[in-house]
Amino acid sequence: NPAPVSTFDRAILPEPVPAAPLAELDARGISAWFGDHQVLDRVSLTMPAGVITSLIGPSGCGKSTFLRILNRMHELIPSASLAGEVLIDGVDVYDPARKLVDARKSIGMVFQKPNPFPAMSIYDNVLAGLKLTGTRADRDRKDYLVETCLTKAGLWKEVRDRLRAPGGGLSGGQQQRLCIARSLAVTPRVLLMDEPCSALDPTSTRVIEETMLELVNDVTIVIVTHNMQQAQRVSTQCAFFLASQGQPGHIVEHGSTEAMFTSPIDQRTYDYVNGVF
Ligand code: ADP
Ligand code: MG
Repeated sequence: NPAPVSTFDRAILPEPVPAAPLAELDARGISAWFGDHQVLDRVSLTMPAGVITSLIGPSGCGKSTFLRILNRMHELIPSASLAGEVLIDGVDVYDPARKLVDARKSIGMVFQKPNPFPAMSIYDNVLAGLKLTGTRADRDRKDYLVETCLTKAGLWKEVRDRLRAPGGGLSGGQQQRLCIARSLAVTPRVLLMDEPCSALDPTSTRVIEETMLELVNDVTIVIVTHNMQQAQRVSTQCAFFLASQGQPGHIVEHGSTEAMFTSPIDQRTYDYVNGVF
């Protein structure tokens, strides 16, 4: 038997992992509470396959809560409850017969503050999700996944020579791309990004935006952003969330990004996208 060679200088790579088919995410009548405090009221939104949807709106209107409901993180908060349905290509994410881990595998999440495991190597960071979801992979498969996920996240060229270095040693923007690579390793069908660029400088922000625009060919993306230029640069559709006068968070208006920014129907949408509040 020939000695094993590293994937990285080998001509023949393992069979590619088939990309998960693009999926539509559909939230129907989502209401949410913390204790008896209602924070979302009957939010319905279809997030079409293969496009980027931006969720916009002032702080505290429930955008992060909505994202956490989409991937079943909300139910981990002891005081939290919810009503409504989340469907991924028509399949109920909350079906009691479905394992939580299946929902997690199909819906990845990237947070505002890049959170790679700082002491863990770049290589192991990418693969960390496999362990969490109980996905098995041999050495060749792992090498392959590391390379493809880092490539998709736009980080491969920068780190290929230091895969054993700790993730915490990367710049903020690189750490965020490492987190994107990590979320991709379990081949999610939807990627949720909660203000992924808020902690980053403008250059890193643009790199992540480029990455998202490439990625959306493989995975449906939902992003929360306070950056109106970013919403316009990356997203096909937008939903404007608002919580006001004691009203829980709800969607005031949603539609194509162009319509939302050039001819919104609601005065409050107009004011928000034009920076009036
Ligand atoms: P956004 O992301 O739009 O800023 P959030 O979803 O973070 O809004 O918060 C919506 C509302 O829910 C806020 O009033 C916030 O204080 C409340 N909230 C968020 N998380 C919790 C929690 N773990 N416990 C209690 N209240 C929470
Ligand atoms: Mg938030």
